[in-house]
Amino acid sequence: KYEDLVSIIENVIDTQKVNTTIHQFHVRKETDKTTVLGDRDKLAQVFTNLISNAIKYSPEGGNITVRIYERGNRLCVDVQDEGLGIPEEAIPNLFKKFYRVDNSDRRRIGGTGLGLAIVKEIVKAHEGEVTVTSELKKGSTFTVSLPLVTLARGGDDERETDEKQARAHVIIVE
Ligand code: ATP
Ligand code: MG
Repeated sequence: KYEDLVSIIENVIDTQKVNTTIHQFHVRKETDKTTVLGDRDKLAQVFTNLISNAIKYSPEGGNITVRIYERGNRLCVDVQDEGLGIPEEAIPNLFKKFYRVDNSDRRRIGGTGLGLAIVKEIVKAHEGEVTVTSELKKGSTFTVSLPLVTLARGGDDERETDEKQARAHVIIVE
């Protein structure tokens, strides 16, 4: 189904922000094309996992900023925190099941190591990608990119309703 990613993200933030008083949430919407094709609950799970990590691994609080923008033919979402950061050598393993970074900074922070594996799987099922950049003790930015909705011109008649619903947001491919 066609879903508005901004409304999904705003709902997730509303549910997550009751878990903290020391973080400030910001949403920066830099494009009006925010429609994606996908499963609303699964996409909500992606941002729940990323935002709950941003909270959990920023034990001293700070800003959590979600930026939504277009890059090429993709819709991108950055989830940025000002927390512990991730050691460079951990990054290749980060999205594997049950992998957790073990160091003294975070030994007391609980978890199963599944959140990011689930993120990766759901994003992949939506033909998207997830990447991360991070600096220790400065923070981390997870970027999810999803295909912008595209429809071929002159498609099947049955597509018409969907096409109308999406028209405000799609790029028509000649
Ligand atoms: P779960 O999500 O299953 O409760 P988890 O949070 O440990 O457990 P993941 O979400 O998969 O598992 O994250 C894997 C590891 O990556 C974490 O243990 C943590 O060390 C590191 N990590 C994830 N997100 C961040 C972040 N925003 N900042 C710093 N480290 C992070
Ligand atoms: Mg997690």
